[in-house]
Amino acid sequence: MPLTLTIDRERWTSHQRDLLGEVPGLVPVAKGNGYGFGLAQLAGQAQVLGLGTIAVGIAQEVDLVRAGGWTGDVVVLNPWRPFDELATAQLVDPSVIVTISRVEDLKALAEQHPGTRVIVEIETSMHRHGLEPGQINPDDLDRLRFEGWTIHLPATGSLAEARRLARAGLAVRPGPIWVSHLSVADYRALHDELDVETHMRVGTRLWLGDKGAYRTTATVLDVHPIAKGAALGYHQHKAPKDGHLLIVSGGTAHGVAMAAPVPQRSLRQRGVTIAQGVLDAVGRTLSPYEVAGRKRDFAEPPHMHSSMIFMPGEARVKVGDEIPVTTRMTTVTTDEIRWA
Ligand SMILES: *Cc1c(COP(=O)(O)O)cnc(C)c1O
Repeated sequence: MPLTLTIDRERWTSHQRDLLGEVPGLVPVAKGNGYGFGLAQLAGQAQVLGLGTIAVGIAQEVDLVRAGGWTGDVVVLNPWRPFDELATAQLVDPSVIVTISRVEDLKALAEQHPGTRVIVEIETSMHRHGLEPGQINPDDLDRLRFEGWTIHLPATGSLAEARRLARAGLAVRPGPIWVSHLSVADYRALHDELDVETHMRVGTRLWLGDKGAYRTTATVLDVHPIAKGAALGYHQHKAPKDGHLLIVSGGTAHGVAMAAPVPQRSLRQRGVTIAQGVLDAVGRTLSPYEVAGRKRDFAEPPHMHSSMIFMPGEARVKVGDEIPVTTRMTTVTTDEIRWA
């Protein structure tokens, strides 16, 4: 009995069409867990939207979007490295565009794989990957198919930085400018002021931008009355009150109840210490499962495919009922997609 993702196809698609209308040159990003929808699903949807280019994170994901029906160009966002055998084998595919972020990699590619389609990444204030345009040898670019400069900005992307870096790239070689994480208004300003083609790569805002377009539900698989003080679960914690145990679908295999790490700084600010996934002495850890209008406690940490929830008093649900569950879409894997 599955953890189910229900998508309102019309609403989901119409949000995407709206965003495409506002962002000329938008390139959809389909990577990782496919933002909760899966890579094949996103590839199929990008195809429905009539787009010509999709971006994936790593070489291994190229085949996964193809399996979803994608027929256009594929940009691999993580930069190519000479020791990545799969990424190197893919260079013969004329629909694959690789990202280059080091001067030595550009040189190696120009020598060993001339004609490859490349986007060159400029180092930004993120300092993740990237080079300084002035340091590359223009002869290397001449031997490759130059598809433009890419600028990966922090989440709070600034137009001033995008503008400055784009101009630094264009001074070395004219070509398209690819950016991430600008606001729509800032991106449009950049698009309007540059006289080259521009693209913005968008994942979260495209697929997850309308939270009302999708929801995750779990199925109640079992219900047991339990008396206060009775031992339960793998860990034989004691029930805090008279109530019911609900066994519901969704567990560690689905990434249920996983949270992003919180910076130490903000934990200290809040004066809190957290032991992730560990129950406190009285066994009260709020679960993402909602029963009768509110989130309920885990009875113990999630199992592989199911979780045990403690309901004080009446169960309020029966076997077979579906209940809402709050999931983090970039870590969850649901069992089934249902179209509404
Ligand atoms: C993942 C990624 C994106 C998309 O990020 P979202 O925040 O999901 O829109 C854009 N650009 C690059 C380079 C990325 O790696």
